[in-house]
Amino acid sequence: MAKFRINNGYKQYSTGNSWQYTHRTVAAKASGGTIPKGYEVHHKNCVKTDNRPSNLAIVSKETHHQIHNKNK
Ligand SMILES: [Zn+2]
Repeated sequence: MAKFRINNGYKQYSTGNSWQYTHRTVAAKASGGTIPKGYEVHHKNCVKTDNRPSNLAIVSKETHHQIHNKNK
């Protein structure tokens, strides 16, 4: 049975022995694979709980920081 919680504003689900970020799993599946090391998942509309595949983008850590710094 799936369990869900919110952590740091992000949705997580339990696999039974660990908590996974839902948006990372959704983005990985949408891209047909896995998220490379050093890459993060950005919520395009900045709504952390909006995990529709169209709202998610896999970006490098550096790019991700730039995106958020620009919006400040
Ligand atoms: Zn982001």
